[in-house]
Amino acid sequence: MGQLIVQKYGGSSVADPEKIKNVARRVAESAAPDHRMVVVVSAMGKTTDGLLALAAAITSNPDPREMDMLLATGEQVTVGLLAMALQSLGRPACSFTGPQVGLYTDEVHTRARIKRITAERISAALDAGKIVVVAGFQGMTEQGDITTLGRGGSDLTGVALAAALKADVCEIFTDVDGVYTADPNVVPDARKLARVSYDEMLEMASLGAKVLQSRSVEFAKKYGVSVHVRSTFKPDPGTLVTREDHSMEEAVVTGITHDRGQAKVSILRVPDRPGIAAQVFGGLGAQSIVVDMIVQNISRDGLTDISFTLPRADRQRAERVLAGLAREIGAEGVVADDRVAKVSIVGVGMRSHAGVAARMFTTMSKEGINIQMISTSEIAVSCVIEDKYTELAVRALHDTFELGRERD
Ligand code: ADP
Ligand code: ASP
Ligand code: MG
Repeated sequence: MGQLIVQKYGGSSVADPEKIKNVARRVAESAAPDHRMVVVVSAMGKTTDGLLALAAAITSNPDPREMDMLLATGEQVTVGLLAMALQSLGRPACSFTGPQVGLYTDEVHTRARIKRITAERISAALDAGKIVVVAGFQGMTEQGDITTLGRGGSDLTGVALAAALKADVCEIFTDVDGVYTADPNVVPDARKLARVSYDEMLEMASLGAKVLQSRSVEFAKKYGVSVHVRSTFKPDPGTLVTREDHSMEEAVVTGITHDRGQAKVSILRVPDRPGIAAQVFGGLGAQSIVVDMIVQNISRDGLTDISFTLPRADRQRAERVLAGLAREIGAEGVVADDRVAKVSIVGVGMRSHAGVAARMFTTMSKEGINIQMISTSEIAVSCVIEDKYTELAVRALHDTFELGRERD
């Protein structure tokens, strides 16, 4: 009995008709006669960004349901074209949207969570000998409204279908040939990792390594799906994201990540009394604004500053909410800064090594980079710095922790 293979191709891999034909050839090559193939695709190139810009040209406050109606169109274009390209190669193929394959989600538009996948039409089409092409990034509520799964969400569609169909292989094809020790577009001597554990990948993804969407890694870990990240344009094996095991590298730090999509907001001279933080973050939470790092100083004169980071796209909304709140609680005011970036070091080896954070801070200080905020987890340390130093910081940290390719 042949294998059931799920492949996902990202936006840059299907950016134009030639690239779609190339993907069709690649799929056809993988599709040995007794294999069953399910192919998930993203919107072409920067289509999703274009759709977001269109919405922004209409309103600064789009209705999330309508936003999903708009965003889901991108992937529908690609599935139709890829199915045609496969048919042109003489391969029977059939495309489906997320709703058509029974991908049900909750009602949180623009970042919905998957609840269940029925996949009846996929199974029927596979039984009929077809290559099944599925639109990534989209699903529907139990009421039948279209939803999307958050930016980068086609990765999640791929992993979730692999879990639901009990696929033998889940391959994520992209424009780099695997998961690297840092973004290879920023660090020229970054090294490809042969294997990386779910926990490290999850931390890297949530701290900015957009090669995999973090929720897709969470899902892969939960259902034990091994994910192979590899290049659309080269045949070489890529990186296996899988359970931690002894054959993995034993470096203290596995990778350096950066995230330029954040902003920093501070509420100045807040009265230091019980309930204030609850009021501030409760107010933001009520508007579905997710904050990341939070820092509160000790107070000297009964007043303190509270700073936090959040996705840059939510900054204006947060400022509006906080302006009202600041008046209510008697704070002096609110200031925001978009020119920040978060740089992080990640590695399971940190669990058992001391002094790793100190090496990070020393590197920053040697480069003359001021650290504005710090946060840590069991396997990561992150610093918020001025945006213009991002590349410098990532490269310097990559050197400090000796992550580069072995030089001959
Ligand atoms: P796709 O369109 O295929 O989903 P993405 O643009 O979402 O691709 O993700 C691939 C990009 O992720 C790469 O082009 C690379 O710049 C970036 N990236 C960031 N960090 C890493 C990393 N550690 N390893 C590999 N790629 C990374
Ligand atoms: N097209 C969506 C995005 O750009 C989903 C994806 O590419 O994974 O975020
Ligand atoms: Mg992506």
